[in-house]
Amino acid sequence: MTPLEPFLRIHGETLLYIVFFGSIIALGLLEVIVEMRAGHADRRRRWPVNWGLTILNIVLLGLLPLSALIFADYARDNGIGLMNFFDIPLWVAVIVAILVFSFQSWAVHYAMHYVPILWRLHRVHHTDRHMDISTTVRFHPFEFLVQAPISALIVLAMGAPPVAVIVYELLDAAINVFSHSNIRLPHWLDRFLSRIIVTPHVHRIHHSTRVAETNSNFGATLPIWDMLMGTYRRKTANELAEQPIGLDEMQDARATSLWWAITLPFRDIHQPAEPPFVDDPERTEPL
Ligand SMILES: [Zn+2]
Repeated sequence: MTPLEPFLRIHGETLLYIVFFGSIIALGLLEVIVEMRAGHADRRRRWPVNWGLTILNIVLLGLLPLSALIFADYARDNGIGLMNFFDIPLWVAVIVAILVFSFQSWAVHYAMHYVPILWRLHRVHHTDRHMDISTTVRFHPFEFLVQAPISALIVLAMGAPPVAVIVYELLDAAINVFSHSNIRLPHWLDRFLSRIIVTPHVHRIHHSTRVAETNSNFGATLPIWDMLMGTYRRKTANELAEQPIGLDEMQDARATSLWWAITLPFRDIHQPAEPPFVDDPERTEPL
């Protein structure tokens, strides 16, 4: 056992909060300096919805005993799962777990787009009309209720070591904030990074209003699964800067209502309910 293992197991959850909120603060500051899409981000109206959902999700996460880590502990203590039948070095278990969990995330995300009842939950994430660090956590709480049992089953079936779960969750938290951030990376850096992890450039295409583009780049951490499954897509920086964000059917004030975000899974929004919202910089000051 390496000294890192007990440290990560004891402080893993605290580290997760530090990495998540640390990434939010650091990348939030960077967004101000090198924003990808110029113009106001309408934070005054978007942020109450996005952070409101964040608080709701954190409260739910704390209340429900559904953390994948609990199941990893259970699998280890009871010798359940494939990895507990073999003497696998921890570093191998961590790499295998990262690959399996990232594929599971890709597959669940794919299903969220193609299974109508799941799309009703997931489209809350896609109704944001801009993208920045706050978009990371704009999720309907029920989406978490779908994801968590699947993660728990995978962890139990694999017998994934708790440390492997923590390492993946740390990566997932940091890369998710990064990929949603409104940061313009130098072309060479994006070309290099996007071969290994999901960059803001790659994930922004997934938030396009065009359905064909939304149904691409499903990966949240690693782009490898999109590359292998034929759902990987890239654009030039200029195309990306012009690309509208959100859902065509909800480009109006409903996108900035917390009540709409919470009740959206139960609504039909095929037809616009109001005239399209006209983006007027005079009406919103940057934060
Ligand atoms: Zn999506």
